[in-house]
Amino acid sequence: MTTELSPDELTGLLDRARGDYQDLVGRGLSLDLTRGKPAPEQLDLSEELLSLPGGRYTAEDGTDVRNYGGLRGLPELREIFAGLLQVPAAQLLAAGNSSLELMHDCLVHALLSVLPGAESRWVEQERIAFLCPVPGYDRHFALCERFGIDMIPVPMTAEGPDMDTVERLVAEDPAVKGIWCVPKYSNPDGVCYGDDTVARLAAMRTAAPDFRVFWDNAYAVHHLTDEPVEIAGLLDACAEAGNPDRAFVFGSTSKITAAGAGVAFFGASPANVQWLLANNTKRSIGPDKVNQLRHVLFLRDADGVRAHMERQRALLRPKFEAVARILDAELGGTGLATWTSPKGGYFVTLQVPDGCAKEVVRRAAEAGIVLTPAGATHPYGDDPRDAVIRIAPSYPGLAELEQAIEGLAVCVRLVGYEQRAR
Ligand code: PMP
Repeated sequence: MTTELSPDELTGLLDRARGDYQDLVGRGLSLDLTRGKPAPEQLDLSEELLSLPGGRYTAEDGTDVRNYGGLRGLPELREIFAGLLQVPAAQLLAAGNSSLELMHDCLVHALLSVLPGAESRWVEQERIAFLCPVPGYDRHFALCERFGIDMIPVPMTAEGPDMDTVERLVAEDPAVKGIWCVPKYSNPDGVCYGDDTVARLAAMRTAAPDFRVFWDNAYAVHHLTDEPVEIAGLLDACAEAGNPDRAFVFGSTSKITAAGAGVAFFGASPANVQWLLANNTKRSIGPDKVNQLRHVLFLRDADGVRAHMERQRALLRPKFEAVARILDAELGGTGLATWTSPKGGYFVTLQVPDGCAKEVVRRAAEAGIVLTPAGATHPYGDDPRDAVIRIAPSYPGLAELEQAIEGLAVCVRLVGYEQRAR
């Protein structure tokens, strides 16, 4: 990332960056780029959802959705999402409003009750570890920390986690019980897993008989370009490879309809589904089927989901284009940063010179631009190179976003040139 500069050139650039930073602080901004939340206009796209089911309370099979029961979720909603999540409807559960909650519950249940294929409960084992492709999603890492599960970082490649490393670690250590994967438009670097990665995850030899891939397909239909990316289905690949119980598939409508009032899904082998249902019957007498019916009536079918996501895309794409345009104009050719151009999902990853990410985030905060803390993309909040910054462009309005990215670029120039001048 270095570009040769003469001492005079560097002084000039540093002076300009300092001046720009002074101006930036003087503007008294108050902008937030921290979390990948849908903007209010995106939520408005699903406004009709809130007036549904409109006096109708029966599901296709005659179930009164207002009543208890139906732990698997409404069959007609599971049908809509089966293809989109690459899980047969019979093996897909429609649950509450949050897939993160399902991931949490799967960990808790695996700790406290024997998983299909397991010799004992995880809590009885001295040590449990998960592989964490980095950069990754901070809430996955927070779950591991919460339950005392060791985290082993694995570098990401353009095709998914570095599979040579993954295969070696899972083969040699029976304490390695799982891996976190966001296989499509990954959080935060937008990576889509290649077919070979999926095949290797499904077929690899694991020392733990109860190893699970936590396949968090949160951005399955969240395309930003005219060329939607399709990935290989993990559940099928695992079944074909003779490891049918290896995949836990998660998804939700959080970024399709309403982030706080959507529906979450869990897909897995029949044995895993039975295991989760058996544990969940203790936890709940059934999910919110009124909300599930609302989603059926609103989305109608898989094409309805795709058409709705086109409307989401129309709102999101200009924001991602603005980020790319401004970063290119302000930082292109400086040698101070590289950034991702995701084809979908919710994030842009900005890579700054080693040792600069925390300082960029600190300077931005001083100028009123709040970013996700540097390091959040790594287990224990520790990015050893201190180089990765996650940008979440979805929530602010376009004008605010542009201001924030312009300001961020000023901070990158300031911190980057300061480092070079030392
Ligand atoms: N997984 C990933 C990768 C995410 O980025 C998010 C939201 N930021 C979630 C899960 C949360 O999903 P839910 O709203 O279904 O709990």
